[in-house]
Amino acid sequence: MITIATAKDIVAQTIRPGRVASVPLGQCVGKILARAVATPHDFPLFAASAMDGYALRSADTQHATPARPCQLRITEILYAGDHATRTIDLGETIRIMTGAMIPRGATAVVPQEDVAQTTAQQITLTRAVAAGDHIRPAGEECRSGNIVASAGDTLTPARIGYLAALGIYEVPVYAAPRVAIIPTGSELIRDSAALTPGKIFESNSFALAAALMELGIVPTISPPVPDEENALRHVLHDAITTHDITLVSGGVSVGDKDYIRAVLATLQVESLFWSVAQKPGKPLFFGKRDARVVFGLPGNPASSLVCFYEYVQPAILRWLGHASIWPVSACAVLQQRVTKKDRRAHFLRAVATHDAGTLLVTPQSSQDSHRMASFARANCFLIVPADVQELASGARVDIHWIGEKICT
Ligand code: AMP
Ligand code: MG
Repeated sequence: MITIATAKDIVAQTIRPGRVASVPLGQCVGKILARAVATPHDFPLFAASAMDGYALRSADTQHATPARPCQLRITEILYAGDHATRTIDLGETIRIMTGAMIPRGATAVVPQEDVAQTTAQQITLTRAVAAGDHIRPAGEECRSGNIVASAGDTLTPARIGYLAALGIYEVPVYAAPRVAIIPTGSELIRDSAALTPGKIFESNSFALAAALMELGIVPTISPPVPDEENALRHVLHDAITTHDITLVSGGVSVGDKDYIRAVLATLQVESLFWSVAQKPGKPLFFGKRDARVVFGLPGNPASSLVCFYEYVQPAILRWLGHASIWPVSACAVLQQRVTKKDRRAHFLRAVATHDAGTLLVTPQSSQDSHRMASFARANCFLIVPADVQELASGARVDIHWIGEKICT
């Protein structure tokens, strides 16, 4: 039996960022850039008006006051998307809308609400307009050839918008790994019509697939495989050959028909660890064949999902190129006494709430690894370290948020 820290270390050492693919920007939210991106264009592309108003030569307005207003003749109207053709000459102005290209000769834009009087032919100004006013200069944000995003950047909505504004519609990102889920156990069914005494509804693949989909991964899901060595060998061989990460649930413990480790050995999957000092999820297995990895998740539903959040999700985030891969932790004040007898670390399904700036955490009452109602209510794991036998009410404890905690 190894410690959680050692097991996590092995996972982090084994998994490397995966393949790089050029992916359309519209499919990139949350992905990580694999290489720096340089812009092929300036931004803004050209000097444009920031307001609906009038483009003018600021020098013409220099002496304008309420007593000595300045009048400018309107020669043209420019809308966004128009191509400016005329040059503004002495005493002239061009009506211009937000986003329209600044015409030659213009040095400023006066917003229409700052114009004292307007007719179809001319405008009257009673104050000077400073050069540069309300003009968005070309290349203000970046110049062609500049690096606009770095390797390792997460493609957030704002970054995606920025890249699109630069005409960059495909970017090199770490492509999603191909992930297989294989539920095993002769008791498992997925069809109520097949429910006979002794059978149960297969649920792990649903929880695991949902957790993967939250990471943007659509897994291949196998039908339940009975506890028979040949059937298992066949399905596992197919999965390992065609997937980067295989998640097999059940059959990794010490029961008479827990064949997974033995079958994986015959498929040349090297065992990197088996059995971790934790509860739930002690029989967790991790192995590899070349660059392919296999997680053997204990079949109890709570065990398999705890192992997903603590080990599989970090592995996938690493594959996807993320720098931060471990569950987001926080310090909370325990609301009731917790005791344990063994020397394993416990992940207790718990509910954390904010109370006037303090985080309070209450473990759920039912923690057995076959029980999911408590997990369904939980929003975090309360971590009881291996060497701690008792935590008093009021103690400061570590929690791991389940899923990503983005709002309070
Ligand atoms: P195992 O790890 O195969 O010994 O399974 C431990 C417990 O988890 C047993 O009670 C199984 O029936 C149950 N179990 C295993 N796989 C699943 C699954 N995919 N969905 C629901 N329960 C499962
Ligand atoms: Mg089983």
